[in-house]
Amino acid sequence: MIPVAHAIQIVKDQTRTLEFEKVELASALGRYLAEDIVADSDLPPFDRSQMDGFAMRASDVQTAPARLKLVGESAAGRGWHNEVKTGEAVRIMTGAPVPSGADSVQQIELTREFDSGSEVEILAPVTLGRSIVKRGSEIKKGETVLRTGERINAGAAAVLASFGYANVRVGRRPRVAILATGSELVRVDRQPGKDQIRDSNNFSLSAYAALAGATIERLPLAGDDIAQLKRQIADAAKRSDIIVTSGGVSVGRYDFTKTVLQELGAEIFFERVALRPGKPSVFARLPSGTLVFGLPGNPVSVSVTFNLFARVAMLAMQGAAETELETGLAVLDRSVKPSKDRESYLPARLFTNENAQLVAEPLKWGGSSDFVGFVGATALIVVPAGAHKIDNGSVVGIVHLPR
Ligand code: AMP
Ligand code: MG
Repeated sequence: MIPVAHAIQIVKDQTRTLEFEKVELASALGRYLAEDIVADSDLPPFDRSQMDGFAMRASDVQTAPARLKLVGESAAGRGWHNEVKTGEAVRIMTGAPVPSGADSVQQIELTREFDSGSEVEILAPVTLGRSIVKRGSEIKKGETVLRTGERINAGAAAVLASFGYANVRVGRRPRVAILATGSELVRVDRQPGKDQIRDSNNFSLSAYAALAGATIERLPLAGDDIAQLKRQIADAAKRSDIIVTSGGVSVGRYDFTKTVLQELGAEIFFERVALRPGKPSVFARLPSGTLVFGLPGNPVSVSVTFNLFARVAMLAMQGAAETELETGLAVLDRSVKPSKDRESYLPARLFTNENAQLVAEPLKWGGSSDFVGFVGATALIVVPAGAHKIDNGSVVGIVHLPR
């Protein structure tokens, strides 16, 4: 049995980044940058007005009201490219370039136009530089604005657009095959017969794999049958970067996943982790190079072990800088019991209380098969192995579940 942190490190060590690809910006959301993003221009690219109003020299309106001669108009996309002289003003719109000579903008609400637009009265003095965003004050040309390994969110999409990245280099998505094993399983569209249940892991696993940026193939259900498992895994390995299986990794008489991996010549990196739930988690590599995560069958164990281990590999393959679940601290809402020799990752709901504290409420724990209870989980409480219960009110470590 190896510690969770050790198992995660092994996953990182054994995972290679996939090749990159160029994608159109419009479809880059959620992808990971495979290049540093460099500003191809100053931002703003010219002195820009922040207001609708009038541009002038601040020294002309130190005593207000002051009358100025209106000499032109600078609109967004259509600037006025002459010199503003003393005693003059230019009507200006938000986003328009501030003409040379002008050093301040007074907003329209504090002005009044005269003589059908040939003069303007500035009703209040302005400080030098007011309502002007100077060229290059946000970003200078040549600056690195986003880095390799960052996830492209909506904000990053705007940055990429602004600097002309119509196409962007990102890590390729891993091809992930998902295989649920167990002779008791029937497909979602079938009525379970005697002793049978519907397969649910296929769908939680594909959902989590999608959240981890993978492209997914769901394989047909495999019974607890060595030959069939072997055939399906060997076949999927030909076209998959990662295979995730559920079930069949315990010590039961019909738990065949490990046997099959061995017979296929896989190198097994770990097979037991000091983790609750999810002790019998297997991580291996087939001769084809395909990584295999053999996760236990219990639906909650599947969710926990997928996100602790398999997700790390999927993000690392895409070149993500951050591959582990986001960590945090929270106040425990109800006492929890540790496991003697395993680190526990207990499903919890997070909320903020009236004292602005983040609180973790452990879900009513129906055990690692309680996937209905698990629906409300937004985080896992990390409980170190130990003998003594952890009281409510204690500060505990948490990891956020992807959503
Ligand atoms: P196993 O790890 O194969 O011993 O399975 C542990 C428990 O999880 C058993 O109660 C199984 O019936 C259940 N289980 C295994 N695979 C699935 C699945 N794909 N969907 C729902 N439950 C499953
Ligand atoms: Mg089974």
